[in-house]
Amino acid sequence: MKNLKLVSQPSTQRSVVMVEDVAFGRDLVVIAGPCSIESEEQTLITAQAVKRAGANMLRGGAFKPRTSPYSFQGLGIEGLKILARAKSETGLPIVTEVIDPRDVSWVAEFADVLQIGTRNMQNFALLKEVGRAGRPVLLKRGMYSTLEEWLNCAEYVLSEGNPDVILCERGIRTFESYTRNTLDLSAVPAIKELTHLPIIVDPTHSTGRISLIGPMSMAAVAAGVDGLIIEVHYNPEAAKCDADQALTPDMFQALMANLRPMRSFMDRISRQHDNDNQAEVTQ
Ligand code: PEP
Ligand code: MN
Repeated sequence: MKNLKLVSQPSTQRSVVMVEDVAFGRDLVVIAGPCSIESEEQTLITAQAVKRAGANMLRGGAFKPRTSPYSFQGLGIEGLKILARAKSETGLPIVTEVIDPRDVSWVAEFADVLQIGTRNMQNFALLKEVGRAGRPVLLKRGMYSTLEEWLNCAEYVLSEGNPDVILCERGIRTFESYTRNTLDLSAVPAIKELTHLPIIVDPTHSTGRISLIGPMSMAAVAAGVDGLIIEVHYNPEAAKCDADQALTPDMFQALMANLRPMRSFMDRISRQHDNDNQAEVTQ
């Protein structure tokens, strides 16, 4: 791929993006929380539940890019203040979406990681701004974008001097309508061939179906993903956004109990593989 000077360094050395003590590219990082910040009660209860279940970071949108202008658009600065409160109570670093280049510098004061959503992947003014914001960036794949287009967007951020980009595969549009999008799981090993940047998977927006979130999370771990971002709501039926796809805290906890053992299993297999190769070389 041409012109990916910073993103496509051909190197066996993978980048590790640190967010406080959370290491993307080294550990299996699980980010969980509601689609949108609706109230202090909703956020604090959900944050405490995901923390108890073993999540490493809290997610939640204060600015929601909605398909309809009449849908809930997020609480804005009030939402960010609630997220700050949830962080101080749980210790979980927060990731939240920014949708307007004019908001980047002050949103960065609340966010540990700035999220660029699928609809804004190619908003180049926004990419340049987050490239200068001094915060790690979670760059979601555009729902109509190729891997090359996606990596060019990461290159925008890196070329502004910000090396800390985490890629997120969140499903692409296909003719299939049973699922909300089609999770392109092949993006995980493909991205690892193409770049040193960490990659996580969003099993929530890619499937849009509660029953598929667990299996696709496990499959993503098997494919070598560096993390997952999962929507959890303490009372999904009352959610103002994406109510059909939020896990309850109990469902999330059950999934977490399987994810870490799956990761250890995969690590064991790859160590075994390395040992076998080493033995072959020395024979
Ligand atoms: C989200 O994570 O809140 C979100 C809106 O996701 P996406 O941009 O992938 O649709
Ligand atoms: Mn959502």
